[in-house]
Amino acid sequence: MREPTDQPNIILINCDDLGYGDVGCYGSEINATPFLDRMAAEGMRFTDFYMASPVCSPSRGAMMTGCYPPRIGFGSFEGDCVLFPGQGVGLAPEEITVATLLKERGYSTMLVGKWHCGDQPEFLPTRHGFDHYFGIPFSNDMGRHQNRGKQFPPLPLLHDEEVVEEQPEQEGLTERYVEHAVRFVRKNQTKPFFLYLAHMHVHRPILVSRRFTERAQNGRYGAAVECIDWAAGALFHELRELGLDKNTLVVFTSDNGARGGDPCGCNAPLRGGKGSTWEGGQRLPFIAWWPGRIPAGQTCGELTTSMDFLPTFAGLAGARAPDDRILDGKDIDPLLMGETGASSPHDAFFFYIRNNLEAVRCGKWKLHVRKRDQEMTELYDLEADIGETNDVAAQHPDVVAELQVRLQACREDIGDEATGVTGANVRPIGKVENPQPLTQFDPNCPYMWAEYDTDEVG
Ligand code: MG
Repeated sequence: MREPTDQPNIILINCDDLGYGDVGCYGSEINATPFLDRMAAEGMRFTDFYMASPVCSPSRGAMMTGCYPPRIGFGSFEGDCVLFPGQGVGLAPEEITVATLLKERGYSTMLVGKWHCGDQPEFLPTRHGFDHYFGIPFSNDMGRHQNRGKQFPPLPLLHDEEVVEEQPEQEGLTERYVEHAVRFVRKNQTKPFFLYLAHMHVHRPILVSRRFTERAQNGRYGAAVECIDWAAGALFHELRELGLDKNTLVVFTSDNGARGGDPCGCNAPLRGGKGSTWEGGQRLPFIAWWPGRIPAGQTCGELTTSMDFLPTFAGLAGARAPDDRILDGKDIDPLLMGETGASSPHDAFFFYIRNNLEAVRCGKWKLHVRKRDQEMTELYDLEADIGETNDVAAQHPDVVAELQVRLQACREDIGDEATGVTGANVRPIGKVENPQPLTQFDPNCPYMWAEYDTDEVG
């Protein structure tokens, strides 16, 4: 019999493009998220949690490795800001993921859902520490769609490394994800497991089954959020049924902020959204649940990041985080467990888009020095002004100067294309020769929808 404190099971739920204000316990009054609200009531809700990028691939690579995207060559991908089907680059085989660490400590590991760290065999989840994989290896808009100029090869659905379906029906796909997740949990109930459930929702196109669209008050977007909530509820039910709730840590978050347009999500009260280094792009919901270990109903306002998952999970599993390379994440176990006086292990957090350094946060201060091609010097007091509306740079030249020093140190460490600085401590992206897409369009293939009848893209 396992003791509740021995090597806990870990379930990491990551949504796609879900904004800071999209969940009830983060202020949404339009999306019904009873299971996530209960998760927060029984666990801890973090208000100052950041993903390491405002777009998918860098955000996910950073979370898997505990490193800022530029440190692992994941700032840009042959000039693009995310990976596309059939590209010859991806997460380098030499990188050590959180799944690899946990697997080495005896965990069963599975990824269900979106990977987006490379689709060539060398880069797939099964080569990066996951025993099993079921999902779409990149974004759900990277297939064949009606009325769209640029077409990709048919959207692949993978089981481990095999394409088992092309252009799968997206309505109902999340239910299939949950089925695979539940079967994995049941199969591994007597030994420690790591399940990474990476939702397709709420990335566009938003295609959701009828039972969610019929009851949601917020259109298809709200239906997708409520589908995510249902999926969490299904997993909590399973954990309780199997008696695993006392030795399972469940973490809920999102890869980047919500995008605008129609249908759109909500990053309120934050400024900006997906693709921007304003708070709305990278500050995201983070709920942690582990009854009996994580205190119930707490809110934590200390600065934490997705890069902290690797060292923190490694610590819980009795694994050592790699010491032959630089990691940017820190063990946040004292914060998770609600230790009195615990504070953020980060004295600064840096905001990158592609390989350009755009902003830094230290304590309550955030200094912006760039937005795309535009240089700027704007300082915000996030405690007084969470919406970044009141630039106080002129009133605090000393703070600006101090944060400029931090930015320069970061440039020298991991680089900044915008100012022409090469980082001293960066590792290369993985590369393969002659990359091939996982699928090719064949009008006679019976296992596919020829085209999705939507032109919505991410
Ligand atoms: Mg995303």
